[in-house]
Amino acid sequence: MTPDVRDRADRPARLESRNGAGGGTIPESAWDRALHLIGRADEVALACHVTPDGDALGSMLAVAFVLRSMGKRVVASFGDRIFAVPRLLRFLPGQEMLVPPEEFPAAPELLITFDSSTFERLGLLSDNTARAREVIVIDHHPSNAGFGTLALIDATAAATAMLAEQLIYRLGGGLDRDIATCLYAGLVTDTGSFRHSSTTPAVHQMAARLVATGLRTDEIARELWDRSPFGLLKVLAAALERVTLEEGPTGGMVWTYITRVDRAAYGLPYAELEGIIDIVRRTDEAEVAVVLKEDDQGAWQVSTRSKGAVDVGAACAALGGGGHHNAAGYTSHAGVEETMAALRRELGKA
Ligand code: 5GP
Ligand code: MN
Repeated sequence: MTPDVRDRADRPARLESRNGAGGGTIPESAWDRALHLIGRADEVALACHVTPDGDALGSMLAVAFVLRSMGKRVVASFGDRIFAVPRLLRFLPGQEMLVPPEEFPAAPELLITFDSSTFERLGLLSDNTARAREVIVIDHHPSNAGFGTLALIDATAAATAMLAEQLIYRLGGGLDRDIATCLYAGLVTDTGSFRHSSTTPAVHQMAARLVATGLRTDEIARELWDRSPFGLLKVLAAALERVTLEEGPTGGMVWTYITRVDRAAYGLPYAELEGIIDIVRRTDEAEVAVVLKEDDQGAWQVSTRSKGAVDVGAACAALGGGGHHNAAGYTSHAGVEETMAALRRELGKA
């Protein structure tokens, strides 16, 4: 028996039932240490990964609410050069707790990171993180490099939001509708609306606790997936016009790209492109789907998806990024053809 399995059996029944079946892989000693560090801190700085998704921002804001209610000074941010909450996530409550990276403490006493699998994913806040006295890393990426001074990392968790919920209970906090909305955004984003194989009974049990607070699942779904500016249709048309199906490492590979110029014609922000991979990856003939998205700085953000046979996480990690077996990404500073050539090479090994 490993120590953490034994510890789990000793957990209070209340917490056990809240965790649901599935448990976790974080040792009790790590949770205890986190509570100790948070308990003694007057100010807690929170950071999530750049271009935050629902899991990164939702987990961070949920914990921010609870820390604030405990009387802590809370400062939360993410290290994007152009600091803006993606339109998709503007419905999340608690955004008044966010500050731009330049207002973030230069050397926090205690910093907690959310959903960030590497130090680099903290972007402009990586320097602040390097100077922080204690850094608690809350994450569920199997590729997490293990930075920071305390790891609360559980690769079996479907979302960082599941770990954030546990932390909230352990801090003595509970769920209200705002906190639940933030956590739900994370859970529903990372499970692909409860469609991915990560959707365990524990995921649905957590969803039940969140929905019981009275949050509006219909409104959250519309904000996240069922709306976009008209320009997205035009940009999507351009992306689909040049979509390619080729022989991949195992089965087919479908891929396309979207340039800055495509978006500029319609004033479409980069963040609006997030859902395009979900259309491309539907392709029956493809095992792997890839979308290259040129950001405002001219770098290519590469989104990859696998149906299971290929570990795109390993390929992306080899190219300087990371993610999960079936969903991963990285940044490329080469051109489209060069980027695809390098990716084909790595996918061949994955
Ligand atoms: P997406 O394609 O939706 O942007 O990202 C899919 C998955 O890959 C997410 O879990 C995300 O955390 C991870 N990911 C995307 N881009 C990067 C990157 O540049 N570095 C790392 N480490 N992970 C990434
Ligand atoms: Mn996540």
